[in-house]
Amino acid sequence: MRRVLLVDPAAVLPTRQQTLVRAGVPADRTPSGRTLDLLEEAISCFLLEADPIGVLEELSYEEFLAVHHDGMPAGGTSVLDVVAPRASRLALFAATVGEPLCARIRTLFAEGNAPLGLFLDALASEAATALAGQVGKALVEERPDPQLAVLAYSPGYCGWPVTGQRALFARLDPGEIGISLGESALMSPVKSVSGVLVAAPAGAHRFRPAFEFCDACTDRTCLERMATLRSPSGPALVKGSTPWTS
Ligand code: SF4
Repeated sequence: MRRVLLVDPAAVLPTRQQTLVRAGVPADRTPSGRTLDLLEEAISCFLLEADPIGVLEELSYEEFLAVHHDGMPAGGTSVLDVVAPRASRLALFAATVGEPLCARIRTLFAEGNAPLGLFLDALASEAATALAGQVGKALVEERPDPQLAVLAYSPGYCGWPVTGQRALFARLDPGEIGISLGESALMSPVKSVSGVLVAAPAGAHRFRPAFEFCDACTDRTCLERMATLRSPSGPALVKGSTPWTS
């Protein structure tokens, strides 16, 4: 199954608190009136200019293994070597908030309006993460199963090298929604996400973060992600507050 999804910008609009924190405003600080005005201006701009779109394509475990290990060093592993074998369904995905919004952010900085640019950048980043959640919902909505939790895993995280984007893009070909890959394996538009959606029983997403590559990890976001999973009564989809996608 391959699907292209057009998403309403309001559906991926982050909360004001999420945006403030992403923009560097400490969570325990009361924002000034000027800050709140800028935030509202950025939200209006986001709702006008964001054009969220995503594509997903289901594939078999064997097909995913081929994509995942293409370009990985010999003997390399990632968390997906533990999680993916327990998946009920797997789908490659890519999604973006759109180039016009990214261009607007660049223009704001170029014209010296960094404060508004900063808030719009923060909104776009949080929205891109939320977009992964929307695509994850789309994977399971046709055949809902309350036992399944969907999480997104991306190249660049937890043992899957960022260069893994090349094999992912070769297989998924998200050019039809306007996402391309540069020389350094960075996506354009910049505010894009990609990876694999893993639909599995909640317990399949839980593991001990004791891989070799975990030694250098300081943020340990896997713990927060695992804490968001509810089992077995309700599905837990990707949370916008726990970015683990690129
Ligand atoms: S500790 Fe860090 S690198 Fe290891 S699985 Fe968790 S988030 Fe990934």
